[in-house]
Amino acid sequence: MININDLTELCRKLGCKLHTDCSLKDYTTFKIGGKCHAVVDAASAEAAAEFVKYFRVNDVKYTVLGRGSNILASDEGFDGVILHFGSDFSEVTADGTRLTAQSGASLSAVCVKAQQNGLSGMENLYGIPGSVGGGLFMNAGAYGTEMKDVVVSAEYIDENGALKTITADEMKLSYRRSIFSDRNCIVTSVAFELTKGDPDKIKEAMAECLKKRTSKQPLEYPSAGSTFKRPEGSYASLLIEQCGLKGQSVGGAQVSEKHSGFVINTGNATFADVMKLCEKIKNTVMEKTGYSLELEPIILK
Ligand SMILES: Cc1cc2nc3c(=O)[nH]c(=O)nc-3n(C[C@H](O)[C@H](O)[C@H](O)COP(=O)(O)OP(=O)(O)OC[C@H]3O[C@@H](n4cnc5c(N)ncnc54)[C@H](O)[C@@H]3O)c2cc1C
Repeated sequence: MININDLTELCRKLGCKLHTDCSLKDYTTFKIGGKCHAVVDAASAEAAAEFVKYFRVNDVKYTVLGRGSNILASDEGFDGVILHFGSDFSEVTADGTRLTAQSGASLSAVCVKAQQNGLSGMENLYGIPGSVGGGLFMNAGAYGTEMKDVVVSAEYIDENGALKTITADEMKLSYRRSIFSDRNCIVTSVAFELTKGDPDKIKEAMAECLKKRTSKQPLEYPSAGSTFKRPEGSYASLLIEQCGLKGQSVGGAQVSEKHSGFVINTGNATFADVMKLCEKIKNTVMEKTGYSLELEPIILK
């Protein structure tokens, strides 16, 4: 049971902000989802750990959100507390070839810091609209670079609310998976090891990446990015296009005309619209090509 008085008092003590009666539309890039009773903006790792202990002791349902760019939230909303890692916990520091970022920092802000410090290795991740914590959870990647190629260690909160450190090898990073997606742990900061490079060339490579994104992806519409994981041996967008599904829609959810790997929200899509459209895509692709597609966004309900 959520006790708003308790949460208010804890937030006051720990220096965190509390938002009540929120809409998940405001916390997700898909702009879909019902209500959430309470969102706590984490302001430090220690504060987040205290909240985890409080949630456990008081049997409060909770989940973690970064930028909400890989989330499909239910129309019924979320009847727990969201521990949100955003701009209140987003410092990025540089020391030699190492960058350390708090988990609420955007991946793009880390790329910019790298460029400013003449550090190469992250250029291809520029433009992924997620946070450092969500990026590590998903092992986000683009254009041949994944988080696993640049991360050396992270700090996290374990299931019991204890602060711990983990090395990249221990994170079991693979295609859109990590130990954090297998266990109920919260990333609080991430260390990246990069190589020295020419700041101008790094800037050029980042601009090139952004250009590719803008020209190929339907960034003018809300979405959660790629709707399906890449099946082994093919590409979801290719299969969807081959099956003649480009432009298909259910309610306000549509297979983008610009990039068939994206289901977009054309204005008033609901969770139910997206799920129905995704079922249709999965069934058609299976029937016509034999490939099984798996949703990439995390369902929040
Ligand atoms: C237009 C667009 C383009 C995209 N392009 C790409 C791309 O090129 N490559 C790619 O990989 N992805 C891409 N994505 C998807 C998304 O940006 C990534 O998966 C990103 O890493 C998600 O980060 P987030 O902070 O938004 O996480 P959220 O969406 O907030 O959360 C995703 C999952 O991570 C968990 N999580 C979030 N923060 C933490 C934390 N601190 N500790 C533990 N768990 C946490 C959440 O509980 C949830 O299960 C794209 C999305 C959009 C909308």
